[in-house]
Amino acid sequence: MEKKNIDWGNLGFSYQKTDQRYVSNYRDGAWDEGVLTEDDQVTINECAGVLQYAQTIFEGMKAYTTEDGRIVIFRPDLNASRMADSARRLEMPVFPEERFVEAVEEVVRANAAWVPPFGSGATLYLRPYMFGANAVIGVKPADEYQFRVFATPVGPYFKGGVKPLTIRVSDFDRAAPHGTGHIKAGLNYAMSLHAIVSAHAEGYDENMYLDAATRTKVEETGGANFLFVAKDGTVVTPKSNSILPSITRRSLMYVAKEYLGLPCEEREVTLAEVSDFAECGLCGTAAVISPVGKIVDHGKEICMPAGMEQMGPVTQKLYDTLTGIQMGRIEAPEGWLHEVK
Ligand SMILES: *Cc1c(COP(=O)(O)O)cnc(C)c1O
Repeated sequence: MEKKNIDWGNLGFSYQKTDQRYVSNYRDGAWDEGVLTEDDQVTINECAGVLQYAQTIFEGMKAYTTEDGRIVIFRPDLNASRMADSARRLEMPVFPEERFVEAVEEVVRANAAWVPPFGSGATLYLRPYMFGANAVIGVKPADEYQFRVFATPVGPYFKGGVKPLTIRVSDFDRAAPHGTGHIKAGLNYAMSLHAIVSAHAEGYDENMYLDAATRTKVEETGGANFLFVAKDGTVVTPKSNSILPSITRRSLMYVAKEYLGLPCEEREVTLAEVSDFAECGLCGTAAVISPVGKIVDHGKEICMPAGMEQMGPVTQKLYDTLTGIQMGRIEAPEGWLHEVK
């Protein structure tokens, strides 16, 4: 199969229309069989539940070419079950988990020419999502839903080298206790836009959100979980019911423990103890880990020892091991690489 003529290494992170996307509709209490379509437009009623009351959830994952030429998706079963959790929390019907995996596979297969070649650093980003599609004016869940999956090629995250981030402690909250911070819903992003725009305007790359109840504990950023390395080499990640359970973070913790033999802790992390850590990184599908070089808490700077030029040594090892597993250079745990044939 002939690949698209794209300068893969210079792609950014933006939407580009690809050949086929998957659509399935939920009506009268059941999902239809679903189809691939070339049509990238969605037509819905002006009063659709998603437009009025933001009833929408999504997932993000990637397909890519391994060193030995296989096209794989990284742990799509976890995206399927996380989306099912998101659906239940927003009173939406679950798109069956096996069908979710089949749908993303179908989209990858139909857009195989868009899967970047090995070595380019680029990947095919997959975006499954679901929304309330029929008219809803009184506040209640929609009766009809649409599940879609599209694909768009995205470039290497660390183009031109790794640049540790500078982040600020945010005065805004991302999620409330007993709220929706643990699900992947558009509503969590809508309310973060003001915080990220103002962070950027002040020269910061990201916001560190604290727990809304006490504002003393570290939660996450707008779209990535924190991972810290203590001075004794222990890998620490914050525990909270309002953090989105990142698949990358869960994979990195497994790698830390099982591949690198590092002690690992998932526990509450206070803002006060952050200055004691040796390394800090942000984990998510896009970057795997982005190192954080500096955290600014209302004028007080916490500078990570690895500085502003490189990843810390443990972060680097975690990054190299997980990306090695993803690319097929290091043996993957059972089920992590889902091959698309
Ligand atoms: C998607 C997301 C992440 C990262 O999750 P991955 O599964 O690793 O991509 C982290 N935090 C939030 C709020 C997210 O929406």
